[in-house]
Amino acid sequence: MAKRDYYEILGVSKNASEAELKKAYRRMAMKNHPDRNPDDPEAAERFKEASEAYEVLSDPQKRSAYDQFGHAGVDPSAAGGPGGGPGGPGGFGGGGFGGGASFSDIFGDVFGDIFGGGRAGGMRGGADLQYNLEIPLEDAVSGTTVKIRVPSLVECDRCGGEGAEPGTGKTTCPTCGGRGQVRIQQGIFAVQQSCPHCHGSGQIIETPCKKCGGDGRVQESRTLSVKVPPGVDNGDRIRLAGEGEAGEKGAPPGDLYVEIRVKEHPIFRRDGADLLCEVPISFVTAALGGELEVPTLDGRVKLKIPAETQTGRQFRLRGKGVKPVRGGPTGDLLCRVKVETPVNLDGEQKELLRRFAETLGDNGGKHRPQEKGWLDRVKAFFDEMKF
Ligand SMILES: [Zn+2]
Ligand SMILES: [Zn+2]
Repeated sequence: MAKRDYYEILGVSKNASEAELKKAYRRMAMKNHPDRNPDDPEAAERFKEASEAYEVLSDPQKRSAYDQFGHAGVDPSAAGGPGGGPGGPGGFGGGGFGGGASFSDIFGDVFGDIFGGGRAGGMRGGADLQYNLEIPLEDAVSGTTVKIRVPSLVECDRCGGEGAEPGTGKTTCPTCGGRGQVRIQQGIFAVQQSCPHCHGSGQIIETPCKKCGGDGRVQESRTLSVKVPPGVDNGDRIRLAGEGEAGEKGAPPGDLYVEIRVKEHPIFRRDGADLLCEVPISFVTAALGGELEVPTLDGRVKLKIPAETQTGRQFRLRGKGVKPVRGGPTGDLLCRVKVETPVNLDGEQKELLRRFAETLGDNGGKHRPQEKGWLDRVKAFFDEMKF
């Protein structure tokens, strides 16, 4: 397959500046990174393509070779490969841009610093942020849109995230000589570490930006609109890509994760797709049967209680539960009845109950379906224990 033009891959013109190339590459890498598109081989391919294109075009020597001779001038299979070997400044280190390269590998962090060489220009991507969003059960079930205020580090508008005061330049870091890394001895190991002077960027800003102090980021509060899909539950996370912290000196931003917390509801409890509620009923209704009004999330419905209903019996109202956010059938509403013992009885009512008990006579057990089985179990228990 013929290779695509590197400029075309990055979507820039032939005379794009270094900054434009960097920006275009960052955008492509962000969008197509395998970590973000785990099941998309085409994204991985685009990612590789963009990485290769940037690797060549970001190197002035290779770029001019490419401009003159095309792909033949910069064949990556040629000795050394693009980006140079470990320690070679200017490249993104390690040489390979396999699908397994992570963001940290590209933009450089502690992990990359230990294993790779020469990550001059390495920048720290912005941190992912988490926001805990508490919503009522009704909103979790039917979905909602919530405005949230997120305190966050955002790209400095004065220096465009570069950290340098507009109109001033950068010099090569004297401590690491522009490599962004220093070797330090730890016991028997020599470890490569991010340069403490330039923090791995390989460059020192001559005049730090007045607004951000050279960090490229400023603390700000942003208002975001979060669309909560119907059916979410406790612990579900909504990802807002690129809405996390801005990266250091123009590195890509992190993501914002909104984690859902569902407030406790006075009536309903959720169990997966089902809703549960407990309904108290009088012992007369339980004995004789009757009809109750019970609440559902979309209004009241009538529930028929058959005669001789025992406490704890569960009635299922089909389809009155939750439609889960990840698909699947809508759950049910389970109403568990709880037979109440009457309280505050006056003399006459107590007398009626006594007379009622007398009518049961010696044969009371006949009216108590659980009693016989229970007494048999108690007898067996004591026989076993030989009391
Ligand atoms: Zn340095
Ligand atoms: Zn700034």
